[in-house]
Order: sequence, then structure tokens, then C-alpha cells
Amino acid sequence: MEIIKLRGYILKKIPIKEEDLLIFLYTNMVGKIVVKARGATKINNKWSRIIETLNLIDTNIYKKREYFYLTESKVIDSFFPIKRDLNKSIFALQIINIIDKTQIDNNPDINIFNLITKTLNAMKENNNIDIIFLSFVLNLLKFEGVLFPLDRCEKCGRELSNDIYFDYNYGAFLCNKDSGESSIDVKREKLLNLENYIDNRDEGLLLNKEEILNIFKILNYMLIKNFSFSLPDDIFISYIYN
Ligand SMILES: [Zn+2]
Repeated sequence: MEIIKLRGYILKKIPIKEEDLLIFLYTNMVGKIVVKARGATKINNKWSRIIETLNLIDTNIYKKREYFYLTESKVIDSFFPIKRDLNKSIFALQIINIIDKTQIDNNPDINIFNLITKTLNAMKENNNIDIIFLSFVLNLLKFEGVLFPLDRCEKCGRELSNDIYFDYNYGAFLCNKDSGESSIDVKREKLLNLENYIDNRDEGLLLNKEEILNIFKILNYMLIKNFSFSLPDDIFISYIYN
């Protein structure tokens, strides 16, 4: 029987008949995969500590007929500093949820896998979780190839300055001259810094509440347009206004 060794994040678990669980993983080698864990809902079973949502695990998976089954597994990181902090765990679970909603089975992307790792590690030790979260979404859109161009105005083609305007009608950035009532203004430099924030947090990036909300709206628009998936804005807004 062929065993596949994988490292992956636990996205969600769904109980199925006969005390089994369906586990959704995002892995380094095969991307998203759904596997069965036999007897995993039994009390005091060996799985309970391992297959918590968010955990990063090393696991061995085998295929029998049309299903994959989880076998020997161990926890690589349980992200305890995130789980014990309510705000961090809310945002981390959103990250896991976004991966679940945007990724299809058997479509691996090591950039996305590494992005999850960098984002969760950044959240462990840093309290700017709203900025880390936005940087994650921005980078995910980049790796998915659906990110708007930041260099030219979508309407007139002119090179954009630092003042750029996201327009809902165009679904892209416009120059000052072409911006209108349906435009949200952002600084181009701040978006570029936000993109790099996951890698270079020490370089500092200051965003006020209005800038954070505007970027949130733009990224949420892109998620809805490309993945028919919307972020729960109440969580985000209550966090940044608290
Ligand atoms: Zn223009």
C-alpha cells in the first residue's frame, strides 16, 4: 500500500458515520486534501490532541478505494500562543477559513503553504494582527494571480503616482483624474509595504484605522469577485475600533 508523507495545516473537521472524522488539510505536497480519520470521535482516542483545527502536522496518508486515510501523525506546531489569545485565534481561524474557501483539492502551491506558515508565525509574536491579516490576503491574491496592477491607471493607462484610487466599477486602480464617487483612495507605497510586511515586519508600516478599513474593503471586493467569498467584516471592524 502506498503511503504518502505530508505536512499540512488542519483546516476543518466534519464528523461522519461510525465515529470517523473527515479532515480537510492544506499540505505542502498536494495542496488541499480530504482524509478520513477512523475512530477519531471516540472519547480519549489518540487523535484528539493531534487533529485540532489550525495545527500543523506531519502525517502519513494511504489511499484505499476512493478515500484517503490518516495514519501515523504528529504535531509540528499547535500555535499555542495564538490559541490562548482570543483576537489572535479569531484572525488565525479566518486565515484557515480563507484557505479552505479559496483552494481546490490537489492543486498545491508551496508559496501559499509558506505564506500560511509565515503569517501564523508572525501572529504568534506580534500584536499587529489586523496588518498581518491584510498582508496575508494581499499575498494570497498575488499568488493566485488575481491581484490588480499597481503601476498603471486602468482607465487611461497613465503611470500611477503614490495617490491611487480603487474603483468598484472598474475593479482596479485609477489615477486621481479618473477617480470618482465609487473610488476608495489608498497610498500605493503603503500597499507595496503591506505586501512585504509578512517578510519584513521590522521595517515598520503605519496604517491608521481609515487606511486599514479601506484596504480591507478593496481586498474583500477581490475575494468576492474571484472566489465568491466574503470576509466577515463585523469581526474585523469591531477589532480595529476596540
Ligand atoms: Zn487615469
